[in-house]
Amino acid sequence: MSVDVQTALRSPKSYELARTALEVMEAHQVWPTVRNFELWVHYVAEKESPLAQEIDRLLAAGEAITETMGEALAAQFLPEAKLNGDILEAGDVLSKELQSVTAAIGAAQRSSEEYGQELAIASGRLTEDDANTVKSVVEDLTVATRKVQGENAVLEGQLAETTAELGRLRESLDQVRRDAMTDGLTNLANRKAFDEGLEHACEIADAAGEGMTLAIIDIDHFKGFNDAWGHQIGDQVLRYVASVIGRMGAHPRMAARYGGEEFAIIFPTEHGRTAKAVLEEIREEVSSRSLKRRSTNEDLGTITVSAGYAERIAGEGAMSLVERADAALYASKHAGRNRTTAAQPMAAVAAA
Ligand code: C2E
Repeated sequence: MSVDVQTALRSPKSYELARTALEVMEAHQVWPTVRNFELWVHYVAEKESPLAQEIDRLLAAGEAITETMGEALAAQFLPEAKLNGDILEAGDVLSKELQSVTAAIGAAQRSSEEYGQELAIASGRLTEDDANTVKSVVEDLTVATRKVQGENAVLEGQLAETTAELGRLRESLDQVRRDAMTDGLTNLANRKAFDEGLEHACEIADAAGEGMTLAIIDIDHFKGFNDAWGHQIGDQVLRYVASVIGRMGAHPRMAARYGGEEFAIIFPTEHGRTAKAVLEEIREEVSSRSLKRRSTNEDLGTITVSAGYAERIAGEGAMSLVERADAALYASKHAGRNRTTAAQPMAAVAAA
């Protein structure tokens, strides 16, 4: 699912979204299978999305959204369904390759058994002390040896082809793995990669007895910007902010798109002081440029971001860390936006 829908499904509005999806499905006589539900949740959650537009087009043309059509739409528009398709396809290629190598190895085994039998017969005949027999034995052996050589050459060729195919498959699987962890719009790590990265960073911090810091960054007034200029420009704003965060906040840290217009940076083994300095650099860089509408050169104004960060307390869970960073972000928004705020320590949160 896209990041926005994933976020929407984890928000207080999620039940309403799910109910609307079911109502629309019932109205269009679509069975509530898991795949269909996923598709129609996307439909109601992102009415401007290419998927929703395609469904609207099909409905306007009087088409029924059958299960087969649902599968096709999911494969085309839902990135995870496409990934699953890619993985299945890679698995098919792999299994065909393995079948052909197994068959070739079986054939080579049979012919080497035959060759062994020929050798046994020949050695029996060589005990007959007759030059003609020796000559005929050598000739038979030469024929048998050539046959085995030929078959070995075929086998070698097939093995080389399979090795090359396996190399290609490994590359495409690596790509699929990378795609599954990357946000398509911004090219930053996606929510799934972030969740895993944060758990991992907490484990590493505990094992090393080190601190770590989590930051959450949100684009100020993004909704208003989107409403005023449209989703396409909204997407460009997301890419612009992501490019600044990726340039200044990633490596060796992890920068991710956390939700719709929210980003996160995990600072492994780094303290709040370092995080604050990086966040301030990002904040200043983002607002240092005035964006232009590329088609008309119209001035779109400047973008600002608010940030919150929390330094992890030894043993603190990922969820608590996110909550504290989020609360700090909220404090930045509340204090007027375009600023960076440190989270309160856990004790203060507990006492509040
Ligand atoms: P993009 O449109 O794919 O552009 C990628 C990069 O190509 C930009 O990275 C920039 O280095 C370069 N580039 C593209 N178009 C222009 C241009 O007209 N003039 C200049 N000087 N360079 C250009 P950058 O700046 O980090 O931006 C990343 C993304 O942020 C862009 O991806 C775009 O989606 C968005 N963005 C940045 N500035 C603007 C802007 O002024 N207007 C709009 N509408 N979007 C912008």
